[in-house]
Amino acid sequence: MGEQLEKIFDVELKPGAGENYVCNLTKPEFAEKMANKMPTEPLPDDQMVEVALKRLDQLRKERKSLQLYLDICVRCGACVKQCHYFLGTGDPKNTPVGRAELLRKVYRAHFTISGKLFGSLVGAQKLTPEILKNEWYKFFYQCSECRRCSVFCPYGIDQAEITMAGREVLNSVGLATKYITQVISQVYKHGNNLGIPEAAFKYNCQFLEEEIKESTGVDVKIPVDKEKAEILYLPPSADLFTNTDTMIGVAKVFHAVGADWTMSTYASEAANFGLFFSYDDIKTINLRVVEVAKKIGAKLVIFGECGHAWRAARQYMEAMNGPLPFKFMNILEYTAELIRKGKLKLDKSRNDDVIVTMHDPCNMARAGDLVEEGRFIIKSVCNNFVDMDRSVIKEKTFCCGGGGGLLTEEIMELRMKGGLPRATAVKEVVESHNVNYLAAPCAIDKAQLPLVMEHYEIPVQVGGIHDLVGKALILEGQEEFEAKKKAEEEAAKAAAAAVPSVCGLCDAEFATMDECCEHAEKEHKISKDQCDLACEPKEGAASAEAAPSVCGLCDAEFATMDECCEHAEKEHKISKDQCDLACEPKK
Ligand code: SF4
Ligand code: SF4
Repeated sequence: MGEQLEKIFDVELKPGAGENYVCNLTKPEFAEKMANKMPTEPLPDDQMVEVALKRLDQLRKERKSLQLYLDICVRCGACVKQCHYFLGTGDPKNTPVGRAELLRKVYRAHFTISGKLFGSLVGAQKLTPEILKNEWYKFFYQCSECRRCSVFCPYGIDQAEITMAGREVLNSVGLATKYITQVISQVYKHGNNLGIPEAAFKYNCQFLEEEIKESTGVDVKIPVDKEKAEILYLPPSADLFTNTDTMIGVAKVFHAVGADWTMSTYASEAANFGLFFSYDDIKTINLRVVEVAKKIGAKLVIFGECGHAWRAARQYMEAMNGPLPFKFMNILEYTAELIRKGKLKLDKSRNDDVIVTMHDPCNMARAGDLVEEGRFIIKSVCNNFVDMDRSVIKEKTFCCGGGGGLLTEEIMELRMKGGLPRATAVKEVVESHNVNYLAAPCAIDKAQLPLVMEHYEIPVQVGGIHDLVGKALILEGQEEFEAKKKAEEEAAKAAAAAVPSVCGLCDAEFATMDECCEHAEKEHKISKDQCDLACEPKEGAASAEAAPSVCGLCDAEFATMDECCEHAEKEHKISKDQCDLACEPKK
């Protein structure tokens, strides 16, 4: 472990430092949509404790693991320095054991004989509305359910389960965050976290198809709402808007192997925020996926680059919504398998502009066992890969600081503090190996990590793994298209270079722009690039735009390229850029 990384474990205790970070409370219009039937507003104080204790009692009886985790902690402290929010804030209530104690104290006081008899002597504390509102509500929303602490606990106590139970108790008395309930209510209304309506979702898929066509010349389809398909693909909805290179990479993979796939506007989201909220909502969100898969007869459901989507599917879907008439897997597994079988034509050198390291999303690495596939894919599509220190990767990965439903503006400072350990580890490989690309196969990471990297001034681009796959993957027909495009560009460049030119510095005249550039280099000590800026075509000389042109779509002839472009815009509804591609200079 490097010196910088070692230093972050040397935490200065700052009791009370976490008190300032409070998530905004939900609104009735979001709360009323939740599948867990929570109250739409916080209950009055005189009802709060009774309802909360009833729910806690129910949960500990229903979830045997929770009961176990409440009983077996020996307070050894092995988990203390493994939580990124503790490392970032120094607040003892942000240690995993400190956070769990908020709930354990109440459990002991109300549900154990020793707690009832000896009270605070055995660490018991009776529940009050203030404890719920001021302690639980704050600190159970300063845990990202990342489970890093569980890896270091000698008893394997799963703090995420305790946090989930704490949040379910809070929900039962009307205390939930606006961010999480708003996201879930958007899923129930539009099928996805971002609340993208059906028409916009479809439009964006078409837009991405055009993007692929423009760069590869290949007709790659991104199907939506096909009536029957072998594969149902669930992207994080952000891949349709902000992380579009990830979606493009995935679509290219499906195209390359001729997959019969579709996405669905009813279940257009891989992510499942129920995981941060309630079992009822995990199940209800997963149910949408199951319904669509059954309807279209999918034999395989593939989850996109999203950490907690994978955990919600992997750990809960069969148990809550099964038996399932289909198999499901993660896109990393799918692509890795295709690469192993030699089904994808890959050119690693197309990623030679990046030196890559990989952030393991917590919910892939610790709750889904997906630690090797991502690395295998990256090494198959890139020549330059460097792992971060082994103490902070794979099952020991650090959270990005925005997981667990904490990716919300009002706690931005906490998010940055929570991102400190991950940022420090990235910084080490940036400084030691010139890493410039942080591969993070999770939509939450892709939203949070760029902010963290900027905050800690680490010059690295954050992107997905399929972004890299998309760049390296060669589709059938793509190379011919690229060769033609290159030849056209060179011809256009040569034509432009052949235009008579006047030196912008000394008015000397030349038969070609190239000669003019050579002159500028020799006489004025200006390189070619600068020369292009300094010189102008000789008056009266035909520029590329003024050259006669033939429309590439209908063979109509025009005196100038400009006129040809105007015609294409009017007659073929093609913008100027595309017109440049479609037309050719008249012979
Ligand atoms: S490591 Fe496990 S047993 Fe030890 S304090 Fe933490 S949760 Fe309790
Ligand atoms: S699950 Fe993660 S965020 Fe929560 S206490 Fe453990 S290490 Fe901290």
